[in-house]
Amino acid sequence: MRELKEKCGVIAAWNIPEAAHITYLGLFALQHRGQEGAGIIVDDGQKMNGVRGQGLVNQVFPKGSLTELKGDYAIGHVRYSTAGGSVARNLQPLWVESLNFEISIAHNGNLTNATTLRRQLESEGSVFQTSSDTEVILHLISKSKGSFEERLKTALTAVEGAYSLTIMVRENQKTRVFAVKDPYGFRPLVVGSLGSGFFAASESCAFDLVGAQVLRELAPGEVIEFSSEGMNSWFLPKKVKPAPCVFEWMYFSRPDSIVFGDSVYEVRKRLGKLLAQKDMNDGFRPDLVMGVPDSGIPAAIGYAQESGVPFELGLIRNHYIGRTFIEPHQSIRDFGVKIKQNPLKESLRGKRVVVVDDSIVRGTTSKKINQILKDAGVSEIHMRISAPPTVSPCYYGIDTPQESELIGANKSIEQIREFVIADSLKYLKMDEIFDYLKPKTSMCDACFTKNYPAPIQI
Ligand code: AMP
Repeated sequence: MRELKEKCGVIAAWNIPEAAHITYLGLFALQHRGQEGAGIIVDDGQKMNGVRGQGLVNQVFPKGSLTELKGDYAIGHVRYSTAGGSVARNLQPLWVESLNFEISIAHNGNLTNATTLRRQLESEGSVFQTSSDTEVILHLISKSKGSFEERLKTALTAVEGAYSLTIMVRENQKTRVFAVKDPYGFRPLVVGSLGSGFFAASESCAFDLVGAQVLRELAPGEVIEFSSEGMNSWFLPKKVKPAPCVFEWMYFSRPDSIVFGDSVYEVRKRLGKLLAQKDMNDGFRPDLVMGVPDSGIPAAIGYAQESGVPFELGLIRNHYIGRTFIEPHQSIRDFGVKIKQNPLKESLRGKRVVVVDDSIVRGTTSKKINQILKDAGVSEIHMRISAPPTVSPCYYGIDTPQESELIGANKSIEQIREFVIADSLKYLKMDEIFDYLKPKTSMCDACFTKNYPAPIQI
């Protein structure tokens, strides 16, 4: 089960000239959602064609490579998975032909009953090409009866868990594109228009880059179809309490995106304000506030705005490292955080500093960062986390380690403070976050509370 965890981004383009180029740009904007692989499948009205590869978007699609991908219809995917072994065969979009149609599919999220369904399908004779949960959806579509919409409805009624999908299907020389969100609405997905065509992406920041107009985010359980008849919307039959992922706001989505109806940047700033209010109520006033780059910075700005405490950058992040450099050898890996973050010694020396981050997962980053800050001459470190302790893994598409590795699940806040060598450590509580942010719907906070909205079959 754990090997299926994926955090990804998806794109779709319908009736957009040079759809592969627009999809490429969209994937570029979603690169933060996955850096391990990327893929684009195009359709020219006669056949599908595609490129998938490992690495960053600009590595998978070097200069000139997109000219091969002709057609006005496309879907795309960026992938991050911690699956060991053969990652290449799991690259998306998946792309298959069946008796009635040619279909490609891109998936963000994790199905929570994929293993059970797969065993069932295999016992009935299905053979799988990948170890990805997404392939289960293709088999279920292929085995179902009726129109494509009926098959899609049947397949998605059988699966459980998180899925924001883009699907491209060609039947009888007619190409349609679908954008689909699971009934809980765990992951973001936005639809809109570009010229006389349609565009869909995991996050609105992709619309900004390609110059598309956002129409709206999909509602939980919504299926949107783009075809020559225009845009058509219908709903999956299952009705459940909405559970969009609160961690998309806190860490995962880009700050310049509107996700679940709110600006991610503004949400993060507000969480920082809440942290500041709590410190002010306790009569605590540091010399300066900084955020752990990059994701901790908006909350640190919010902290500074609320409290009047001066904001400083504190650390400069090197953005050109890439995963491959850090990963291969232990001797290099140990440099990890040091290679990424360098302190601004002059502004830090002798200061009592509030360090804001969005989360502590294993605790290793915080510990290393705090050591760097101490070496730079900081006199006191007061860590403020704009979330509760992470106590449980995500089964719905965010890459979190298992419980035994989560410091929040295994140590008290005082023990964590000691581990990360901070002078004080404070988190936010889930109920005070929801009281303060007043989200428009119920949300998934399972990584902080262990309240899993969708059943999990491991
Ligand atoms: P750790 O060293 O495991 O405590 O990592 C904490 C840091 O990782 C924080 O600075 C977070 O911004 C970042 N982080 C939180 N969740 C994730 C995730 N799912 N994938 C990658 N980084 C994350």
